[in-house]
Amino acid sequence: PVILNLSQITKQFSSHSHPAVEEVSLTLAQGEILGLLGPSGCGKTTLLRIIAGFDQPSRGTVEIAGQKVADHRSCLPPEKRNTGMVFQDYALFPHLTIAENVGFGLKRQGQKVDRQQIKQRVGEVLQLVNLSGLENRYPHQLSGGQQQRVALARALAPQPALILLDEPLSNLDVQVRQYLRHEIRHILKATGISAIFVTHDQEEAMAICDKIAVMRQGKLEQLGTPEDIYTQPTSRFVAEFVTGANFLPAKRSGNLWQTEIGTWELINTASFEEGELMVRQEDIGLKPDETASVVISDRQFLGREYRYCLETPSGNQIHVRTTSSTQLPIGTKVKLLINFDTAQIFPVN
Ligand code: ADP
Ligand code: MG
Repeated sequence: PVILNLSQITKQFSSHSHPAVEEVSLTLAQGEILGLLGPSGCGKTTLLRIIAGFDQPSRGTVEIAGQKVADHRSCLPPEKRNTGMVFQDYALFPHLTIAENVGFGLKRQGQKVDRQQIKQRVGEVLQLVNLSGLENRYPHQLSGGQQQRVALARALAPQPALILLDEPLSNLDVQVRQYLRHEIRHILKATGISAIFVTHDQEEAMAICDKIAVMRQGKLEQLGTPEDIYTQPTSRFVAEFVTGANFLPAKRSGNLWQTEIGTWELINTASFEEGELMVRQEDIGLKPDETASVVISDRQFLGREYRYCLETPSGNQIHVRTTSSTQLPIGTKVKLLINFDTAQIFPVN
């Protein structure tokens, strides 16, 4: 069944400003984790707040589990939407214990839940997030990663239809972030609760989500599985933001696209004459060649791989990632061995 249905959601904070969210439509199936990915300011938080009920859409409708919860006229308050929210800064109640924090939403529901039941449910979700035994601590006695797991437990406790997470890992250091990626996905999958996971980090989105919605300036730019988004970007924006690929000016002659570093044949030829050829960083091999015109201008060692920065005669920069076995010093002239199989052509702008 469909858990969330957004139909043409637009949010305009004032009549003269550009809409923060524009005409976004999407659906989310039961048990699915959807990533909202995009640069800062593209409208991710605004869209999440509209789903949660903290903001009202200017146009469009929000349906959760088959029930209309908002349009431009009516707006059900957050506590009546059967959703749970997790914020970047955890937003735990500092004066409540971990158990009280996690049990908070259970008491607020208004139904008569007895203390024993609350205690049992709190114990269950704390076990789920791997924090059993910390019931009587206070938030400040926990690490950032632990606090965020408490926030997740608090959101999960009332068994909502949908969990909304707004950059939940952004305040944590790299190692905890890596670990919690797996943890969060595992927990969400174990409970079967649908989720929307907001992030500006493409790797994080790919690691956690079943589908990714890429947003740009309030609009939905592309929606697909991580594999779709990575291998079949439909715009230069998505290609650049998600894969960090190289883009080289290219001119067409017949079926051939000519660039400074090579010629690429594209049979289904595009309708434009000038474009930009996308070549991924991992699809370029380097071969030292004294007669070559491209030179290595910088090199970073990243453990498993090297990242090279190359400069072409016309001053274009090309980024290349290779396994650590390709070890070439800065200043080396190199020939590029390009795997054009995954290349794509985009119109300029
Ligand atoms: P993101 O979460 O992707 O960084 P936001 O949803 O926070 O983006 O913001 C999208 C746009 O809407 C930004 O231009 C922001 O300045 C604007 N915006 C967000 N909230 C408000 C508000 N309460 N009033 C006016 N403008 C807002
Ligand atoms: Mg935000």
